Amino acid sequence: MTVRAGIVVTGTEVLTGRVQDRNGPWLADQLLELGIELAHITLCGDRPQDIEAQLRFLAADGVDLIITSGGLGPTADDMTVAVVAAFCGRDLILDPELEDTIAGILRKLNAARGHNLDFEAVMAANRKQALIPAGAAVLPPVGTAPGVVVTGAPTVVVLPGPPRELQPMWRAAVQTPEVQQAIAGRTHYQQGTVRMFGLPESALAETLRDAESEVAGFDRLEITTCLRRGELEIVTRYEPDAAPVYAELLDLLQRRHAAEVFSTDGALIDEQVAGLLAGRTIATAESCTAGLLAARLADQPGCSAYLLGSVVAYANSAKAQLLQVDPKLIDEHGAVSEPVADAMARGALSRFGADTAVAITGIAGPGGGTEDKPVGTVCFSVQTADGRGRTVTRLMPGERADIRERSTTIALHLLRQLLIP
Ligand code: ATP
Ligand code: MG
Repeated sequence: MTVRAGIVVTGTEVLTGRVQDRNGPWLADQLLELGIELAHITLCGDRPQDIEAQLRFLAADGVDLIITSGGLGPTADDMTVAVVAAFCGRDLILDPELEDTIAGILRKLNAARGHNLDFEAVMAANRKQALIPAGAAVLPPVGTAPGVVVTGAPTVVVLPGPPRELQPMWRAAVQTPEVQQAIAGRTHYQQGTVRMFGLPESALAETLRDAESEVAGFDRLEITTCLRRGELEIVTRYEPDAAPVYAELLDLLQRRHAAEVFSTDGALIDEQVAGLLAGRTIATAESCTAGLLAARLADQPGCSAYLLGSVVAYANSAKAQLLQVDPKLIDEHGAVSEPVADAMARGALSRFGADTAVAITGIAGPGGGTEDKPVGTVCFSVQTADGRGRTVTRLMPGERADIRERSTTIALHLLRQLLIP
């Protein structure tokens, strides 16, 4: 038996593309982890008829659970609870206890913001947030808006739009007896993620074709592969008793592609490099990526323990002045060349007194390419203060943004290879 769900994302700002939907993908991931099959994500504006149409569509499709996002605020365009109540045939009833809770939250907010608003007017505007479909379970607010769970076929979970409110409230919703009952028939899946770098998709496809015959019970694995940020990601879902089948697949992948498999526990290259940098110090010297690598290093919490800084040396003069790159080297080999990348990395080592440095110089395009060095040519150098290092050139496809982003991934992999014991 499977449990199927649908997600209704509401909000005119999301429909029009001004705000990018973060709730649909996040909830999709949560459902996957719970072993609930997601059938649809629908998206509509803040119009009651449109929200109702989505609910009707999903109910007609036979989903067991609907999750809505958005439209719980105090303003006139926030109508999701009323629409869901009508759809489920429930009256809206004022919950006095909830009204007190909301009043308490608002009082604190007003005081914290130093507002001197007419509190009665604020409360009147927010009173509608205490209107709950009869018999519904209430999800305590993280912001000011409570969520609700209305049981039935399907059961509907109503959540607020701001992701920082929706996420904890979804976690609370899953714990309610109402949602537990709706998802009782779900399959408990396990999931494994393998990440590879430097393997073409076609080679992976070939390995997976061979796995069909070599791995007994292969059809019990649900495998999805995707190319992300220049890496291959293989996500496999399976029922717990198929764990030995997955172990065999993992073994095959690691045997065939020992050099390319870099993660089997879900860890990202960024996290691995952060781990390898513990007890070290690093600086970057970036031309074509202009700080993107440093920014990616700084995305990791705790990076101040090892990230000293970055020189964005876009112009040749900056490479010479800030990184002590000999202008003659640039004249002779060009700014995008291995000798210059190497000199930039050494410059970063000494400029920052770091024990590890990475340099990136390349041609992101669309202009600036030559026959020798077409757009997408990027030179990398990773160096340690004790004289180990590697300097390489890569040619990558894609547009300017792809090339600059992909370069940061390559640099992280070069770092990993250099620092791994
Ligand atoms: P509020 O009380 O803040 O009005 P609400 O439940 O009514 O909460 P919405 O009015 O739908 O939520 O959205 C409020 C804000 O939350 C949006 O302007 C947007 O910034 C953010 N938001 C809403 N939905 C999404 C979404 N699907 N993805 C990302 N951000 C969203
Ligand atoms: Mg709103």
